[in-house]
Amino acid sequence: MTSFKRISDAGNLTGKVALVRVDFNVPMENGLVTDDTRLRAAVDTVQSLRTAGAKVALLAHFGRPKGERVAEMSLAPVAGAFAKVLGANVSFVADCKGEHVRKAIADLAPAGVILLENTRFHKGEEKGDPELAKEIAALGDLFVNDAFSAAHRRHVTTAVLADFLPAYAGINMEEELVALDKALGNPERPVLAIVGGAKVSSKIDLLKNLVTKVDMLAIGGGMANTFLAAQGVNVGKSLCEHDLADTVREIEAAAKAAGCEILLPRDVVVAKEFKANADNRVCALGDVAADEMILDAGALSIAHLAEALGRAKTVIWNGPLGAFELTPFDTATVKVAEEAARLAKAGKLVAVAGGGDTVAALNHAGVAGDFTFISTAGGAFLEWMEGKELPGVEALKA
Ligand code: AMP
Repeated sequence: MTSFKRISDAGNLTGKVALVRVDFNVPMENGLVTDDTRLRAAVDTVQSLRTAGAKVALLAHFGRPKGERVAEMSLAPVAGAFAKVLGANVSFVADCKGEHVRKAIADLAPAGVILLENTRFHKGEEKGDPELAKEIAALGDLFVNDAFSAAHRRHVTTAVLADFLPAYAGINMEEELVALDKALGNPERPVLAIVGGAKVSSKIDLLKNLVTKVDMLAIGGGMANTFLAAQGVNVGKSLCEHDLADTVREIEAAAKAAGCEILLPRDVVVAKEFKANADNRVCALGDVAADEMILDAGALSIAHLAEALGRAKTVIWNGPLGAFELTPFDTATVKVAEEAARLAKAGKLVAVAGGGDTVAALNHAGVAGDFTFISTAGGAFLEWMEGKELPGVEALKA
């Protein structure tokens, strides 16, 4: 694995100021945090720095203020919420650079914690402006990045600060990088990738990268319709990108050249309406009527995927296998997730999943806890699956 610097490489931190980039982009209603998962995720890194004697100044963005001060996007209410989760005082200062902020940090007690205002209130943040980076870097002695979810951006506080300060991965970042390496960087083979979701068009780069890296690629969800249609299968009025037939053939040719087996559904569940509990039937490929749409994979397809999971040592999963928000079209997603979780729990499979809807689908299946690792990062996880370099991770390389 690419080696990166960890907090334990930072030497003596007594009296030092750590600038720690966290993901505090939490859901909020009427000034109250409604889900504190991301706040809880930051606790280990913050505590380990405090225990080592450092003061902690937290950097984070909230929403998309686009370089303006937008009162509703202030991080002020998050300081109190984080203090509760941390079980310690967390002060707040209404900017993330300048003399006023420097003084607020200097005034902290030893091992004190302070949250700085939304970094995106400054235009330079998203531009990766080195002048802003210099001003923020002047506030601290080291930079700790614990926000993998923002690592696909070359923003000041996600990457550029590393040009001005010694930079280290926080504990979450470290866990994420280790898990992702196990899944795709340096995995135990055979590796099965399961890619589902709505459209091929949003995942072309991802599919092209995966066929060169994995041994088996299972395509599910609406995307599979596009693959089936490209092979001449009638998909009725299913969600399908008929214009991508050539792209599908390119992906199939690349897979063949790389020795990657592509797994497509063998039977499907169809309905005439896109709604929960719509009348439905299981049908063979080629048997879909003109007024029907494919909303899930059938029992044969589920068994085929279970068999592939049995052959695999590693599975990496993004995207649901059907319209999982609508019962009973969540069946394939739930059944296959249960099987992956069962094998992971038994120590027979490394099971890693990620991406927005995937996390929701695995939570819906009730098996997220048994997966080896689930990444909650959306864009960063997908770009990593596409094989792209993530600026925030590059910046931490040893
Ligand atoms: P994505 O964001 O690309 O991962 O797509 C997730 C969405 O794909 C979910 O909202 C699913 O309901 C939807 N989806 C999956 N399979 C199908 C299908 N066969 N027909 C329509 N939508 C689907």
